[in-house]
Amino acid sequence: MEVRGERTQLLSMTPQELGEYLRGLGQPAFRAKQLFAWLHQGVPFEGMTNLPRALRETLRESCIDNPVRVLETITSSLDGTVKLLYALPDGHVIEGVLMRYKYGNTLCLSTQVGCRMGCLFCASTLDGCARSLTPGEMLGQIVCANGVLAAQSGDGKEPARVGNIVLMGSGEPFDNYDNVVKFLNILHTEGGLCIGMRSVSLSTCGLVPQMLRFADEGLPVTLSLSLHAPNDEVRRQLMPIARRYAMDDVLSACRHYIEKTGRRVIFEYALVHGVNASPEQAAELAGKLRGMQCHVNLIPLNSVPERGLQGVSEREVDIFRRALEQRNISVTRRREMGDDIEGACGQLRRRYLGQKESD
Ligand code: SAH
Repeated sequence: MEVRGERTQLLSMTPQELGEYLRGLGQPAFRAKQLFAWLHQGVPFEGMTNLPRALRETLRESCIDNPVRVLETITSSLDGTVKLLYALPDGHVIEGVLMRYKYGNTLCLSTQVGCRMGCLFCASTLDGCARSLTPGEMLGQIVCANGVLAAQSGDGKEPARVGNIVLMGSGEPFDNYDNVVKFLNILHTEGGLCIGMRSVSLSTCGLVPQMLRFADEGLPVTLSLSLHAPNDEVRRQLMPIARRYAMDDVLSACRHYIEKTGRRVIFEYALVHGVNASPEQAAELAGKLRGMQCHVNLIPLNSVPERGLQGVSEREVDIFRRALEQRNISVTRRREMGDDIEGACGQLRRRYLGQKESD
């Protein structure tokens, strides 16, 4: 059971665990289903009208319905992307991004407060990792975003909901393995948010043992692998984790995932001027990925001033992309969303914390 800030986080529990908890309060088994549904609909205890009033009162005193609270939302005037800043029960602050696509709403979730992987280009890691998030704190971000969507939709209309999840906010999902797996299991449980694994992308910097283990969980999410380099030498310049796991082993783990799940792997590649973005490096990358069921997602670097890394021009992106295409590697350039609202990982949270310090 997940306990933070002393009160019990009910959103971290499976229906079975809720049943156990309620049994301890002398409640019949069927209440678990009712409570589970309310929690995932974002209804506070007082609004759970089919639960006895006394039970609602007991729960309100000793439990938290949603451990995540929206502190601030910023909506992009360019594309409707919403940047969310959330508060957790112990005062930590995390962030997320809600992207409005034609085919539905995608929410980018954080899995930790900060990150300890140390990737040179990433703002989330600059202050290290304060702690990992509980399953309820991951689910709670979705419940909050559904609330934001409901508030934005017009009267009388069926409110829009989050349909797709990307675990690409702050944190390394596989550095919080058990909580992330439990989160995914609750996410597709009937009576809750009911988001299927095919609507989830999990992005990792490449923790090989966890990648191998995850392939056996029976959770066929889309695996995104942050590669960012054509070889170990360049990868080690950008990502400390590359000193622990060789690229060959990371790619073998990807092949294993493809075999086990039948799903292609997405390689994330942030182009950094003068480091990993030359046409020769594109050719080397293509050689490494030849014959693999995969797709490369090119991300123009969101420059992080603290680290002095430089992004690339449109022309450099094009040349790199064509060099991959010519070698039959499926590739796209990631669309930039919310460019005017600090959409990139960790940027908004940093600004918020920086402001608080200077207050
Ligand atoms: N820890 C996970 C998920 C979080 S980051 C991972 O490493 O995959 C989500 C993606 O954004 C990763 O591919 C990450 O490398 C990339 N990213 C982080 N900072 C970036 C920046 N400044 N510009 C472009 N991409 C960045």
